[in-house]
Amino acid sequence: MIKMHVRKDDQVFVLTGKDTGKTGKVLDVDKDNSRVLVEGVNIVTKHKKPRGRNQQGGIIKQEAFISASNVMLVCSKCKRPSKTGRKIMENGEKVRICKGCGEIIDTIRQART
Ligand SMILES: [Zn+2]
Repeated sequence: MIKMHVRKDDQVFVLTGKDTGKTGKVLDVDKDNSRVLVEGVNIVTKHKKPRGRNQQGGIIKQEAFISASNVMLVCSKCKRPSKTGRKIMENGEKVRICKGCGEIIDTIRQART
């Protein structure tokens, strides 16, 4: 499995593309392709054709996946876009740490073996 530096519900900062400088919440993560869906970022317009009598056609705006390498985690402690690291605690727990302020961001939940 590919290790991702961001996860669902993270706040991330966009580094490149048309939404550079925006921050948003990660709505979904596509681990297989290392892509993320970020709220309000990379909005694409889709034209929807009317289907049947009860459904109207129109323009739908929705987020599209962007490469995970284009975003940086916003640290919940120092509120800055930060590089993250991993650390194993004395009790064997793996945590994500902010390389900016050094604080522990959260625990990486692992499947029990
Ligand atoms: Zn931090």
